[in-house]
Amino acid sequence: MDAAVPVYGGIEAGGTKWVCAVADAGGELLATEVIPTTTPETTIGAAVRFFERHRPLAALGVGTFGPVDVRPASPTYGHILATPKPGWANTDVVSPLRAALGVPVRLDTDVNAAALGEWRRGAGAGLGSLAYMTVGTGIGVGAVVNDGLVHGLLHGLLHPEFGHIRVPHDPVRDPFAGSCPFHGDCLEGLASGESMRRRWGRPAERLDDPTAWELEAEYVALAVLNLTYALSPERIVVGGGVAKHPALLPAVRERLLSLLAGYPGPPVPDGPGAMDEYVIAPRLGDHAGVVGAVELARTARPAPA
Ligand code: ZN
Repeated sequence: MDAAVPVYGGIEAGGTKWVCAVADAGGELLATEVIPTTTPETTIGAAVRFFERHRPLAALGVGTFGPVDVRPASPTYGHILATPKPGWANTDVVSPLRAALGVPVRLDTDVNAAALGEWRRGAGAGLGSLAYMTVGTGIGVGAVVNDGLVHGLLHGLLHPEFGHIRVPHDPVRDPFAGSCPFHGDCLEGLASGESMRRRWGRPAERLDDPTAWELEAEYVALAVLNLTYALSPERIVVGGGVAKHPALLPAVRERLLSLLAGYPGPPVPDGPGAMDEYVIAPRLGDHAGVVGAVELARTARPAPA
């Protein structure tokens, strides 16, 4: 790589790993590195060393697990808030990166970064809106509406928490009480990888019982239905480890069609195969988050002096 040409950095900061990448001015990835998430000092330090090997760095984007303060004007901007992840509550992620690397740092949620990545460089090409739902250990949604990322209010909730919406829970069909420590049987409590592990006694990647995947498709289809009615996005990308099971998305599409029940409301694309283009897997695969973080960097502005 030509050392004189600036690169843009991105971090997908997850609870188990940080994926770091640098890209050229056009957003093409040049190098990536995966760092295990340990203590904040060790993890941030390892990320700094990665970017120090890829100078000159123009800006850095971070898509992080949360809850996180994403209000640029807030005194705690870039702080991870009350996370159960040991050692990370109240951790300032932005300041040490900015201080060590001397570049603008733009931070958003992991799901917003993934939504941005898919919108700019994956499944969203040419669209004005897109929602990205991750169904993994937890459940979250990021969204682009009217050509911009959706954020929360300036006070109160810091960012949307779609994973904690309520969906119908039939205790006869599904006696599991739900795994959310706050709400029990919210969407995440019923449909996350963690809920599947606790309900069925094994992790989703080792679960082949068709009953389990039918139930999972029911909950994910209800979530997609709610997203459709709330945001009317042009496309919904469903990523995350649980969504990799080959039976899930086809069953979600089929169930969604019947849940929509012919209501002539917020349109989902019509015609043969249209549902296959409406609810889709990430085109960027596992890279949606880090590609989106790089996109955050490419639109980062220098901090006011
Ligand atoms: Zn919940």
